[in-house]
Amino acid sequence: MNPEYLKDLKNCHLCPWDCRVNRLEGERGVCRVGLPEVAYTGLTQVLKTFAVTLLGCSFKCIYCNAYRLSQYPDSGWIYRGYVEPDDLAWEALEAFETPFARKIGAKKLSFTGGEPSIHTPYLEETVNILRQDIPDLEVGLATNGFCTPNTMKRLEKLSTYINFEIKAFDSKLHHAITGASSQPVLENARWLALNHPEKIRVFRTVVIPGINDLEIPKIASFLKDIDPTLPYRLVGFRPHFLLYYHPGPSRNLMHNLVKECKNLGLEKVDYSGYTPGGTLMVGSSFKNELKNTYQLLNQAGCYRRPRSCGQCPENKHCPAIVLEPWTNLPP
Ligand code: SF4
Ligand code: SF4
Repeated sequence: MNPEYLKDLKNCHLCPWDCRVNRLEGERGVCRVGLPEVAYTGLTQVLKTFAVTLLGCSFKCIYCNAYRLSQYPDSGWIYRGYVEPDDLAWEALEAFETPFARKIGAKKLSFTGGEPSIHTPYLEETVNILRQDIPDLEVGLATNGFCTPNTMKRLEKLSTYINFEIKAFDSKLHHAITGASSQPVLENARWLALNHPEKIRVFRTVVIPGINDLEIPKIASFLKDIDPTLPYRLVGFRPHFLLYYHPGPSRNLMHNLVKECKNLGLEKVDYSGYTPGGTLMVGSSFKNELKNTYQLLNQAGCYRRPRSCGQCPENKHCPAIVLEPWTNLPP
């Protein structure tokens, strides 16, 4: 299998890890994936889309709610695999024709994961094929924003709207939470917001008490300085992966953070989700975000500090891929 549209994967530098591996010949970079592989597809009633969930990610986020597919293939789970773009496009067309799709008005395509940007040529090929039949097809993308400026431009071109996640502002903390720098993410966010604000459905951050609470006002200020009308959504953390025993945010914490962001001048801020009886972190506990994060990483088997998965000699067999998070007891 070596189709022309996948030529970028022969010397992959789609993201800032810049691995330069030949993903078509069995070499693996930080994301560990070769061919673009699909976990599953489905019609989603809420988003009215045919959603394609892709495998693999450029990050190893400590709170990933989809770690079995984001850390594929190391997670050991078996998913659907490579699907020819022609077949995927045909599947989407058929799905749009079903009575259920007609009933819910589903006629969009969306890509999620894992991290879709590590499969950009596959996204482009599928969208191009589908737009031959549906020229005005809307395409949604959910991304962690960690890609090269060139990849970001390609993603902007193929998308109608983008959900862009910023996990932390401070790069040290971003390294700890994700294994990577926040710099490329912030640069891409700025470029997109300045040049294609109409493509931004929302910027979002998962709020993790004691891990990234303090980052929320920093991200809000960063967005406000670009454009005070940019939409920003805070999402309440739910326990997953290395943070399996970590508490979620209380409703008050989410309310207070939204208020703080608005007080900073960002106009369109809201939140979804909180933990009933969850944490309202105050005072000194805020100061320990890095320490808290590294304690959890040590607990899971990652002793690298600073944590940077691209430079880590163990990134081909990361010990922090915890298959049963409930065995990873709190520090
Ligand atoms: S981590 Fe980035 S540069 Fe490396 S192989 Fe994956 S997509 Fe390519
Ligand atoms: S051990 Fe290495 S690859 Fe694994 S999470 Fe830590 S820095 Fe990343």
